[in-house]
Amino acid sequence: MTTTLHESLRPVLDGLDVPTDLLVAGTWRGGSDGGRIDVRDPASGAVLASVADADVDDGAAAVDAAATAAAGWAATAPRARAELLLRAFTLMHERSEELALLISLENGKSLPDARSEVAYAAEFFRWYGEEGVRLRGQVGRSPNGANRLVVTHQPVGVSVLITPWNFPAAMATRKIAPALAAGCTAILKPATETPLTALAVAALLQEAGLPPGVLNVVTTTKPGPVVETMLTDPRTRMLSFTGSTEIGRRLLRTAADQVLKCGMELGGNAPFVVLADADVDAAVEGAMVAKMRNGGQACTAANRFFVQAAVHDSFVEGLVAQMAAVRVGPGSDESTQCGPLINEDAVRKVDELVRDALDRGARAVLGGERPREGAGCFYPPTVLVDVPPEARVLHEEIFGPVAPVVRFEREEEMLTMVNDTEYGLVSYLYTSDLGRGLRLAEGIDSGMVGLNRGLVSDPAAPFGGTKQSGLGREGSTEGLLEFMETQYIATSW
Ligand code: NAP
Repeated sequence: MTTTLHESLRPVLDGLDVPTDLLVAGTWRGGSDGGRIDVRDPASGAVLASVADADVDDGAAAVDAAATAAAGWAATAPRARAELLLRAFTLMHERSEELALLISLENGKSLPDARSEVAYAAEFFRWYGEEGVRLRGQVGRSPNGANRLVVTHQPVGVSVLITPWNFPAAMATRKIAPALAAGCTAILKPATETPLTALAVAALLQEAGLPPGVLNVVTTTKPGPVVETMLTDPRTRMLSFTGSTEIGRRLLRTAADQVLKCGMELGGNAPFVVLADADVDAAVEGAMVAKMRNGGQACTAANRFFVQAAVHDSFVEGLVAQMAAVRVGPGSDESTQCGPLINEDAVRKVDELVRDALDRGARAVLGGERPREGAGCFYPPTVLVDVPPEARVLHEEIFGPVAPVVRFEREEEMLTMVNDTEYGLVSYLYTSDLGRGLRLAEGIDSGMVGLNRGLVSDPAAPFGGTKQSGLGREGSTEGLLEFMETQYIATSW
């Protein structure tokens, strides 16, 4: 194994194995052209490690390995597969502090956010360790009585798993756990900005007893050709992608050539609605979670706030007070509540969206200016009010600590604005009238609704979006079925 972890990381990550090579057929090795990729701390720009840079031959080798292991893994008893996942759950908990620090270093998020992510990520191993032995088929009789209908589920087969940088542990385990529980072998391609956590999770799975080839990991600066090689290999049967809608669309086109099964978790533009009858303090608390988890860099991040006129000023006052108190700094400092954004491009994009809103007449009641000096990709917590409907910030994913607030009078007006987006991942709604909340939730076109809650993610719940936010669901039993094909056998006795 080539270990190119920066010296300064060794003592702090003591006890956590962080490989920096490709995992192919159970062996850690460099890429075939010998290239390496620097992984940087977004708070300082310092190089943390350099990982192997795979090319198309390595992608093909990973599919070979997964295909070779497929039949054996599919035939492995569900209990044996489940026990591997449960051991991985225990190991993640044992190394949770080191994993949290690693996430914080490569992604920039605060340690409390990183610790929550590790706990959430580990839960997918536990949930699917439990769920993998409970899958049931059906036996029925055809309506005319002529035959029996036997319905079972089979593993879909070799699966390509592609993950983003914003939740480097959880987005990986949310795919690996159901794939392995279902009996599929897989190739994971983590984001280039944050590959170390995924590599560390793969090493933990090996420690838990992962057989060679069942999970392979490929890091690359050439995702287009390497992923295309994997998706066009006739042995590949599934694409499970989490990332932007733009790349998702592109991959769906490639996947169409072989009619791959596709699970797509794409971008969001979550509305956060506060009705006049809401508990405003609770709404502010929920808004802070929905907006500020990961510094706003979550697909579920509240992107647009719609507040009914009667509570608009008190909600804004509460939100500004809480946002102003957030401590911004390097994620790995214990006192930090909001870390840097992932890279300079992200800061530029957030700044551009804020400038556009201000130019169109919005007012910044907090923040609104990027820091002029100093290293690191920081953007201050920002609250904008009087944001006009045409402002880009209401239509594009912000992915930063910026809260644009829009005042509304009538429910119908609010519903029109809420649904005026190509996205449909999650929406948040605050009201003290449960019946009204449920009625309005049904009128919102999104896969998930947080009703008086600023957090919806749960391994036991079906996570996913409508419209251009994606296809399929992750988590829950639905997430397991994503990695299975339904087989129906007609018979009679
Ligand atoms: P991204 O740019 O779409 O990248 C996601 C993954 O796709 C990365 O591993 C990336 O590799 C890879 N990729 C990029 N170009 C590719 C290509 N041509 N072919 C194959 N793979 C390619 O997204 P991101 O910036 O990492 O993540 C942020 C986005 O993810 C946001 O839109 C967010 O809403 C979404 N997201 C959605 C969910 C959800 O559950 N719905 C959860 C988290 C994030 P490289 O890193 O090498 O570019």
